[in-house]
Amino acid sequence: MVSFAPLRCASVCARFSLMSITQDQVVSIHYTLKDDAGEIIDSSPDGEPLVYLHGHGNLVPGLERELAGKRAGDKLQVTVSAADGYGEYDQALVQRVPRRTLKGLANLRVGLRLQAQTGQGARAVTVTRIAGDMVTLDGNHPLAGKNLHFQVEVAEVRAASDAELSHGHVHGRGGHHQ
Ligand code: ZN
Repeated sequence: MVSFAPLRCASVCARFSLMSITQDQVVSIHYTLKDDAGEIIDSSPDGEPLVYLHGHGNLVPGLERELAGKRAGDKLQVTVSAADGYGEYDQALVQRVPRRTLKGLANLRVGLRLQAQTGQGARAVTVTRIAGDMVTLDGNHPLAGKNLHFQVEVAEVRAASDAELSHGHVHGRGGHHQ
C-alpha cells in the first residue's frame, strides 16, 4: 500500500522560495568585495548577511543591476567598473588647505575622516597628506576609481513593508532602525 505525506505548505513555500529580486524587495546577501589585486576590502560580517531594499540606490549601481532577477540560493561573481561603483576618481575633490584652518582638531593625521562644510553641503573628506603647513583633503569616496570584484550569495528575498518603502530602507534585523 502506498501512502503519501501531506504537502503542508507546498504552494506557499514554493512561492516564497522562488521570489526573484525586483524593485522594492528586501534582499539579504552574503558578499565579499575584492580589489584588482585580489585583496579583500569589504565583506558582510561573519554569518550575518547585508540586508537592503532593492531599487533604492542602497547598493552601488553595477551590483544592484546584476542582482535583479536573482533568487535565494543564487551565487554570482560581479565585476563593477569604477563608474558603476563609487565613481571615477575626481581630482577636483582634492584640495590643500593651510593647517591652521584645521586648528582645534585633535590628533590630525593621515587617514582621518572629517566632515567638511562646502557650498553644496556637508561632505566627507579624508586627510591624505600632511606636509609642512599644508594638509591635503580628499573628498573622493575611498573606493572611487577602483574596479570592484564582488562574490555574492543571495540568502533571502522578501516583500518590503509599507514603512520600509516610505523610508527607502530596511527595518528590523540588519536594518537601520526599528
Ligand atoms: Zn526607517
